[in-house]
Amino acid sequence: MRNSVAAAIVFGLFTAAQPATAKTDTDAAPPATPQPQSSTADANFETFKQTFVEAMFQQAPDWGLEVGQYGGAAQLAIPDPSSDRAFAQKWLDQLARHPQAKLSPANVIDRALIENFLRRTIWEAETFRRFEWDASIWNVGEGISLLLTRNYAPLDARLMAVSARLAKVPEYYAVARRSLRRPTLEHTQLAIRQSQGVLDLLGPSIDEALAASTLPEARQAELRERATRARQAVTDWVAYLDSRIPQLKRDGRSFRIGPALYAKKFAFEIQTDMTPVQLYREAQTEKERLTTRMDELTTELWPKYFPDTKPPAARAERIGKLIDKLSENHVAAADFVPEVKREIPLLEQWVRDHDLVTLDPDKPLQVRETPIYKRGVAGASIDAPGPFDPAATTWYNVDPLDGKSPEEQESTLREYNHWMLQILNIHEAVPGHYVQLIYANKSPSLIKSLLTNGAMIEGWAVYSERMMLESGWGNNEPEMWLIYSKWALRVVCNTILDYSVHNLGMTEQQAMKLLREDAFQQEAEAREKWHRVQVSQVQLTSYYSGFAAIRALREEVKKREGSAFELKRFNEHFLSYGNAPVKYIRSAMLSAE
Ligand code: ZN
Ligand code: ZN
Repeated sequence: MRNSVAAAIVFGLFTAAQPATAKTDTDAAPPATPQPQSSTADANFETFKQTFVEAMFQQAPDWGLEVGQYGGAAQLAIPDPSSDRAFAQKWLDQLARHPQAKLSPANVIDRALIENFLRRTIWEAETFRRFEWDASIWNVGEGISLLLTRNYAPLDARLMAVSARLAKVPEYYAVARRSLRRPTLEHTQLAIRQSQGVLDLLGPSIDEALAASTLPEARQAELRERATRARQAVTDWVAYLDSRIPQLKRDGRSFRIGPALYAKKFAFEIQTDMTPVQLYREAQTEKERLTTRMDELTTELWPKYFPDTKPPAARAERIGKLIDKLSENHVAAADFVPEVKREIPLLEQWVRDHDLVTLDPDKPLQVRETPIYKRGVAGASIDAPGPFDPAATTWYNVDPLDGKSPEEQESTLREYNHWMLQILNIHEAVPGHYVQLIYANKSPSLIKSLLTNGAMIEGWAVYSERMMLESGWGNNEPEMWLIYSKWALRVVCNTILDYSVHNLGMTEQQAMKLLREDAFQQEAEAREKWHRVQVSQVQLTSYYSGFAAIRALREEVKKREGSAFELKRFNEHFLSYGNAPVKYIRSAMLSAE
């Protein structure tokens, strides 16, 4: 559904370089299958890439853990900007020995991704310097949590790795305290909240694992003792952050990063030729277009749903009222997951019948209730095999509603009503994320699966929603288009919100007005979004920027090919380049045609 920043725990500069989005983004991944070599330059570059990736996992062991490389399991890396900077400079120098002109198109893209990543790492270390103002990057939880929950080795071996990490936790937070210069209030509050989760992890979760362990008593005692000291370090860290709150309320750094940093982060993260202000203006035009369309649909539908009442005079009010009415059409709580299971084959059949994109019958999607330890983050998400385990099952996780109060259930069901649930399934599964990931796995580049472009991935999912509706999914019912437009408006307003808050000083009140009144969001959703835009930057624009770029590329190709244009061929050609920024796919596609 959406990604919670609170849940996207970031360890340091390296993981921060990845899009802070759902599992989808990090787990999308092909193996390092050797490609047929066309030249010595390409062969040399393949070797370079292998060595580079190995070095990267040594520099950032937690990144390795995330994607299934466990060589650094026992190492707790302490964020060190000068070491990251030296690392990046060294590899940039090596990269210069592989000039782009001699490489295949696929390697040209890989090269650009590596260069972007290295330049970004230097920028983060020298200029952005998040470790000085974002207290929430200082968090030992995620790595330890992965070691406890992933079954990559016997429990005792994993616990030994946990123990080695725990021993370094006090030093980790001592460095954190020295590094944090002028933090923002908002990230400090986030860090305090997330540290509660770390304390749970270092307490009950470790106790539980130890109860199942067969390690010698001495080892267990050592681990317990290290866990106690680690908990104390986290507790002290929280107390320290707490003590700074009154001062931060007066003169903490602003969470708004401002136009200069924003433009740079946007360039590194989105990797588009558009400037932030161009995208912002486009989003505003699209917002007005969507709202006008929603009003037309409302006028058309009004007599059917409110035969005896006149529509309110204010546009936003009548649209909002009708959406409210349509939201009553939803499944019962117990039928939520079964309904998702029922819809997937229907979507697949539709995609085949309408020649939208070829589906791989050998890679069935499995719908399941989200495993308990992952619930409550995204609502729905795709768990795709990692780059080092491409044969594993792809899961579509859906949070069941049974743990929620009746009020929460009703609210979720109204949000994911009859029409919205279909759009969600299109976005997450068919032909959205799940289909894109299968294509990405067939584009054998480890680099593209590690240095993924979130804008392309989210953009494809958003693009696929519109494509399905345009092909007639939902019978062109005005209800479907209206609810879809509400969803699309959310995507567009994410961009407007992110830009306005970080560049134009948009206030909380203005933000709430945008989300509640202009985008028809519930109070809780709008609050959560306001929280998210305070602690993240640029990521909220990735959905719309990717979508806009893919649409523009499709129109461009359509124009070039005229009557010879085929949607299916365009889609498959586009997807064949894997998780790359749309601008690189564009130049590869246009030169190949
Ligand atoms: Zn209801
Ligand atoms: Zn998505």
